[in-house]
Amino acid sequence: MAEISIIIPCYNEEEAIPVYYARMQEIIQSMGVDMELIFVDDGSRDGTLVQLQQMAREDSAVRYLSFSRNFGKEAGIYAGLRHAKGAYVAVMDVDLQDPPEMLPEMYGILQTEAYDCVATRRSTRTGEPKVRSWLSDRFYQMMHKLSNTDIVNGARDYRLMTRKMADAVLEMSEYNRFSKGIFQWVGFRTKWLEFANTKRCAGETKWSFRKLLAYSVEGITGYTVAPLSLASVVGLLFCVVSFLMIGFIVVRTLLFGDPVAGWPSLICVIFLVSGIQLFCLGIVGAYLSRTYLETKKRPIYILKESGNFPDGEGESHAVA
Ligand code: UDP
Ligand code: MG
Repeated sequence: MAEISIIIPCYNEEEAIPVYYARMQEIIQSMGVDMELIFVDDGSRDGTLVQLQQMAREDSAVRYLSFSRNFGKEAGIYAGLRHAKGAYVAVMDVDLQDPPEMLPEMYGILQTEAYDCVATRRSTRTGEPKVRSWLSDRFYQMMHKLSNTDIVNGARDYRLMTRKMADAVLEMSEYNRFSKGIFQWVGFRTKWLEFANTKRCAGETKWSFRKLLAYSVEGITGYTVAPLSLASVVGLLFCVVSFLMIGFIVVRTLLFGDPVAGWPSLICVIFLVSGIQLFCLGIVGAYLSRTYLETKKRPIYILKESGNFPDGEGESHAVA
């Protein structure tokens, strides 16, 4: 049985896979530890799967899972975890933005120090649009204030963990998965290593602005219910303001009479209040929709094909 299982989610990565594989060969040789590489093809439309099949034929340490369509990186990590058999489990991107050179150090730490997990965070965000970095910083700041689960700024999914922790993560079989939150939520002692951001080795990022926004909403709704109380707070605030206004208008009418005026201001107030009401309704909707999807108990991923797992494990096309 392998000592370290490495889970590598891949979505349209035919250019990056050979580069990654070559680099990993050097690392595996230098470490001299038995490893299995579990590539998860997340419904790629390019030659990713063909490449994985080819590699699996030539190298018994390469295993692959292939999804019936694109289920997202989070689903890929979950599938990989379910099939990983190693005493230690790592999650790593295929584009070499998670430096494989750090693996020996991470493994060393888990062996010698009393940690269950070594995680990584980017110390810089060079090469990323400024607006995006700024918005990310605001997101993490807000999460820090609103949630008990501390989501670390710049945290990558790149980490090495013990079997105990991997099993704990597997216990969380929720449909709406936000890995950064899940890893943090399960607890265990985690050591953080930092590294400078590097550019992708090939191909391009799968994150559009829209996807990132959806991802942050996932993080917020998954790990804090504070926005739900926003409606009550804002409502209360408006009641106080309206009482003050009523008092003001009564006194003014008594003192100065009541010339009919104020249509424009009335319209502005109506627009403002309806806007706030709809916004709050939207927040409730965001939580409700997630509850709805969760109650459906849909599978997190559907396996189309898999290969090279010992004893045909993972060959079953059963659904998670
Ligand atoms: N990925 C995936 N499914 C997706 C999107 C991405 O499995 O729907 C994989 C991708 O192949 C890569 C990793 O997740 O190995 C990180 O993706 P990317 O490099 O696009 O993200 P970034 O590094 O820009 O955050
Ligand atoms: Mg990347």
